[in-house]
Amino acid sequence: MSRRTPILAANWKMNLRRDDAVAYCRKLCDGQLPDNVEVVVFPPFPLLATLAAGLQSTAVAWGGQDVHPEASGAHTGDTAAANLLDFDASWALCGHSERRADHDESDAWVGRKVAAARSAGLAPMLCVGESEAEREAGTTSVVLSRQLAAGISGLTDPEGGWALAYEPVWAIGTGRSATPALAQEAHAHLRAQVAAHLGSDIAGALRIVYGGSVKPANCEELLRETDIDGFLVGGAGLDPGSFLDIIRRCGTQEGAAGDPSA
Ligand code: PEP
Repeated sequence: MSRRTPILAANWKMNLRRDDAVAYCRKLCDGQLPDNVEVVVFPPFPLLATLAAGLQSTAVAWGGQDVHPEASGAHTGDTAAANLLDFDASWALCGHSERRADHDESDAWVGRKVAAARSAGLAPMLCVGESEAEREAGTTSVVLSRQLAAGISGLTDPEGGWALAYEPVWAIGTGRSATPALAQEAHAHLRAQVAAHLGSDIAGALRIVYGGSVKPANCEELLRETDIDGFLVGGAGLDPGSFLDIIRRCGTQEGAAGDPSA
């Protein structure tokens, strides 16, 4: 069991409307959240204002599903860190596999986003993960090492204030979650790589969350693994009831509370 405070994050992707967001916030507010977890919601950009209004003065945080590396400029359709801060966001996803695929984002480009988010005062959540073909080819650890190294290459102040998400592409939205043992192996590899780049203190405090078909039925066994520090949840995070179920299951596990030093 991890000693780090678990992060439970819902990624809505391109789903839910404003009325849904209002109802979702109300349900989270009424939901009696355990205090030994950190909860984050990543809505589509146009719904950030709704979350800022609906979740203000709660312990729930919110963030952008992406952020541009530049502070401002001629980048039509993109969103700057400063605009996320305008809506009191505290997190930004960087390098989600759907953005890497849909927008051809390179590892280096993702690294620039991580650096920009961190230096603007947002907490980047760097997403890494291998495709099915890469796993079958036996290159998972090489892919993860490469994505991680590029992703953190611009982090000038890496002590706290960011997190890592291991999301095997073949497990996202497929209903085919990684087994706890397989996820643990990848998380342990990533933590060792972070230690090699940034030192063992930073690696030991870093939260590494798992994403890929997490639901109430499998979150507890995954969280029992030493290096799994919470979840980035897609499908099961669209329904506030099932997200709350995941939050409660992760919050009530003995030993889930820990040293919130990350
Ligand atoms: C995700 O969107 O990051 C994700 C893990 O999705 P799902 O939980 O639906 O697999």
